[in-house]
Parts: sequence; C-alpha cells; structure tokens
Amino acid sequence: MYKSYIKFTEQDLAVYGMQIFRRKGDEVEVHCIFNDCDKDSIGQEAHLSINFKKGVYHCYKCGANGHITELFKHLNSFNRYNGKRDI
Ligand SMILES: [Zn+2]
Repeated sequence: MYKSYIKFTEQDLAVYGMQIFRRKGDEVEVHCIFNDCDKDSIGQEAHLSINFKKGVYHCYKCGANGHITELFKHLNSFNRYNGKRDI
C-alpha cells in the first residue's frame, strides 16, 4: 500500500540519528547514506539534500535521487545493516 511522504518529517530523521547540517528553504542537508559520500566531509559539509515539501531527495555527489519514501526505506535497512536497534 502506498504510504504518503507527508508522513515523513525532519523529526523522523532524528529517529534514525541523522544530523541536519544545513537548511535551504524547504530543503535540509544531511550526510549521504547511499555511497559514503560524506565519509571524508569536514565541518558542515553534507551532500544529501532532502526536500520534505516536494517529497524528494538528491545527493550532489553520487547523484542518488528519488522519492522520500525510498530514502526512509533505505534508512531502515541501513540501520539493520549496522546492527543498531530502535528501543
Ligand atoms: Zn551520495
């Protein structure tokens, strides 16, 4: 069943331990979760831009992009992969 992206907010990022580095209008920038793009990033550098209003994401470095529901699906598997638990 299709789940609306409207359900996802900035608070959901915090649940996954995602830090917001920058804000540009409706967009926030976080570290890329797809290809370790921000492994060598320093300071406030972050490449994954998320637009909650449009419900899309885009990485400026690896070019990953898509619907925000895919991003959260990826975050779920990502957390499992790292053995982190939601308590
Ligand atoms: Zn990336």
